Amino acid sequence: MPRRVAILGSTGSIGQSALSVIEGLPHELAVAGLSAFRRWESLIEQIQRHRPAAVAVCDSAGAQKLTTHLRNIGDPTRVLGGAEGLVELVRMPETNYVLAAIVGAAGLPAVQAAVERGLPIGIANKEALVVAGGLLVPLAKRTGANLLPVDSEHSAVFQAMQCGRSDEVERVYLTASGGPFRTWSAEEIEHATLQDALNHPTWSMGPKITIDSATMMNKALEIIEARWLFDIDPERIEVIVHPESIVHSMVEFRDGSVIAQLGTPDMRTPIQYALTWPRRLPGRATRLNFRDLGRMHFEAPDPERFPALRLGHEVARRGGTCGAALNAANEAAVEAFREGRIRFRDILPLVEDVLDRHAFVAEPDLDQLLTVDAWARGQIAVQNTG
Ligand code: NAD
Ligand code: MG
Repeated sequence: MPRRVAILGSTGSIGQSALSVIEGLPHELAVAGLSAFRRWESLIEQIQRHRPAAVAVCDSAGAQKLTTHLRNIGDPTRVLGGAEGLVELVRMPETNYVLAAIVGAAGLPAVQAAVERGLPIGIANKEALVVAGGLLVPLAKRTGANLLPVDSEHSAVFQAMQCGRSDEVERVYLTASGGPFRTWSAEEIEHATLQDALNHPTWSMGPKITIDSATMMNKALEIIEARWLFDIDPERIEVIVHPESIVHSMVEFRDGSVIAQLGTPDMRTPIQYALTWPRRLPGRATRLNFRDLGRMHFEAPDPERFPALRLGHEVARRGGTCGAALNAANEAAVEAFREGRIRFRDILPLVEDVLDRHAFVAEPDLDQLLTVDAWARGQIAVQNTG
């Protein structure tokens, strides 16, 4: 029986790559549900190609427009509206696998619903884990939900981990491209524009994660994500800059062996592994050619120019409400930067300030996490330095 996948965020970068993977494996994978935020028109072609049982459009006006359009052309696909539509996609009987590919904490309720149902979940939506890993991971243990990493680094670590036992792991190396400002001076970074920040050297991704790569907040979020996915002491997680983005991450075992996973920078590879795990099936990504590759480089990240990494370790260590404060402040700051309300150089100081000032709770429930999330966003919303 094929896995019937509800793709949460199918109109995004990960969502579209996932549809390409599914199209390439028609006997193994099928689409149960699709979702868009506002751009309902982008769903029309996806519906016609993949015949989902239902789609969700979070924006209610958009959902209404899509319903009318489908009725006019005689298409019977069900349209769900509002943020609850995502949870309905997860709960419908046609779904037996969830791909969480929404950006931001907005994806959390649907991830939680999938964990409650005990479904396998391909998790690209790292923000959900950063905010609520402390709740989701224990819940997944109880329900039997399998959290399968989609993030390329975490997919690499997951694959490398299969070469030993978890108590034999000495260190996890998360590789980082270094983003567009890797070789920029602190002075140059001070004056970085939105266009500069959106110019990622190796990966083509959605705008939020691309800006997170420029501040290296993406790697901070990934430290926290790794802490939850692999139950590893944050002190054992090390970030190493690798500009070619070929080695996707590595695990060092206590005998001194280092196991790495390599491939061209194409998200279809980790997406497919999450969707077909534990099997490996023919993939569509361009193959690595070691003869053309030449050299690969590794360097230590610079904590002065990229202070986000320190915050990532701090939040991973402190836990509690820190992930919710860090993530919400960062989401709001990235949005403010995209709207021209703050400058690139303001993002990190604002996020750190909100993290420091938030009312820390060591073992929060979901309500307490959401309260911190809303408070942190409110603190950033009043900023205007652009
Ligand atoms: P994207 O911006 O390209 O797509 C985001 C998707 O989420 C879209 O379908 C959009 O309609 C939907 N969405 C956005 N806000 C929403 C909201 N409030 N409610 C409901 N739906 C909403 O983002 P992306 O680059 O595909 O990233 C998705 C997730 O995957 C992020 O968490 C990102 O960190 C992670 N990720 C992405 C990549 C990549 O290569 N793009 C790599 C690793 C991890
Ligand atoms: Mg990544």
